[in-house]
Amino acid sequence: MASKSVAREAEEIVLATRMIHLGARLQVLQAETSLSYDRLARLYREIKGCSPPKGMLPFSVDWFMTWLPNVHSTMFYSMFCYIDRHTPSKKAHALVDAYALYLEQASAGRPETAPAEPVLSFTRAWMLVRFFDSDMLQLSQCVRCKGGFVAHAHDPDHDFVCAICRPPPRAGKTRSRARPAQVLHDALDRAAALAADGTAGQPALGAGLPSAGQPRGGHLNRRI
Ligand SMILES: [Zn+2]
Repeated sequence: MASKSVAREAEEIVLATRMIHLGARLQVLQAETSLSYDRLARLYREIKGCSPPKGMLPFSVDWFMTWLPNVHSTMFYSMFCYIDRHTPSKKAHALVDAYALYLEQASAGRPETAPAEPVLSFTRAWMLVRFFDSDMLQLSQCVRCKGGFVAHAHDPDHDFVCAICRPPPRAGKTRSRARPAQVLHDALDRAAALAADGTAGQPALGAGLPSAGQPRGGHLNRRI
């Protein structure tokens, strides 16, 4: 076997560094790079100033179905699909770029003093892409707004109505310590704009939004 390319290793360190800054867990770094555990753990400590957290990754498909995570996940996945398909940034790089964009959008308009914890963590975003690749999730097309929304794979979607068109009665009453309704409304507005762009075919984010039934997957080829 040829010795490992120094340039390749440097690229992977840059990628891992970006992921650590976005909140990636060590397991994610191990899956997306060929760097050793020891090197990744050392890089993590250098950047974060503490040891990487231990424990299992969040492995729950159902989490993405609750309404606020669903809206945020849909917004993120729409951006990921667009970047992965229509820009030179692919796979893990598309994931990092899409997540950085998601953070930008999710925090837009919020006061500096508001808690900065995003609804969708980087690790959850990574899991989301894997769930799509594993055919556990699909984008179901809402019959009202025509946007594609994260849903269980193989669920009948002929009468699917999304979380934006039919929000639950408690919508706007959760996460009250941050900023009650405004955070939610902002997220809804942005996701609705993305969904609308996807159906109008305009060259904007979400234009590559696939509807239910279109082939998916192939973004991150490693299995869960
Ligand atoms: Zn809808």
